[in-house]
Amino acid sequence: MSGKYNKLEQIYEGKAKKVFRTNINGIYIVEYKDAITAGNGAKAGVITGKGIVNNRITNRLMRLLEEQGVPTHFIEELSDTETAVRQLEIVPLEVIVRNIAAGSLAARLGLAEGTKLRSTVLEYCYKNDALGDPMVNEYHIAAMGWASEIELKTIADYSFKINKILGKHLQSAGIELIDFKLEFGRMNDGAIILADEISPDTCRFWDTKTGEKLDKDRFRRDLGGVEDAYREVMNRLLGQD
Ligand code: UDP
Repeated sequence: MSGKYNKLEQIYEGKAKKVFRTNINGIYIVEYKDAITAGNGAKAGVITGKGIVNNRITNRLMRLLEEQGVPTHFIEELSDTETAVRQLEIVPLEVIVRNIAAGSLAARLGLAEGTKLRSTVLEYCYKNDALGDPMVNEYHIAAMGWASEIELKTIADYSFKINKILGKHLQSAGIELIDFKLEFGRMNDGAIILADEISPDTCRFWDTKTGEKLDKDRFRRDLGGVEDAYREVMNRLLGQD
């Protein structure tokens, strides 16, 4: 069910989402799947209800960001798992924002997971599954022409701003924002806007009081309770409805 938008042919299928063209120029429909993968597809499974939860969480947070001045691709939630979004050209970078050491940063620098970083860390990875999304820096990005210097400055500024807004909001729901991944796109007029998703698939969320993991690490590390953890995040952010 897509209401006023006619869902036309699928133009892309990723690990956790499908993207469809619509009858309206410049508008796509994203459909969230229950499929889950980790380690660049090395580990795969299905978490019942994940598509619904990630769609709802992402849209709630995208709306919050829009209200606070961050432009996003979000247009309208169409169903439990479908959302209308602005068509854009994806900048082929994954922007990782880190407040507390975990995952690959903890491993790379030999830090205990949970070590508070003195200041927020930004990392860039080249979005390329075949290469395993290698980490790159500003010089690689300029040399490859993936984003201009001005675009990258905008991306970095938005990323820090998003970190502030989300960190504060999640804190009020008893959730610590450890780290997360963002993707940005370029509109026809050249504007940079936030794209993709913001969900327990793409963020590390730890319960503020207990430190319990409420994110994809439950799947990556075989901790169990993946579905319940995702649902807990949704309930805290959207209420029990
Ligand atoms: N992340 C993501 N997609 C990726 C890689 C990382 O959404 O392809 C997120 C991940 O969920 C975490 C943050 O980015 O919130 C930092 O991930 P990290 O580099 O520690 O990698 P990992 O430990 O997941 O391999």
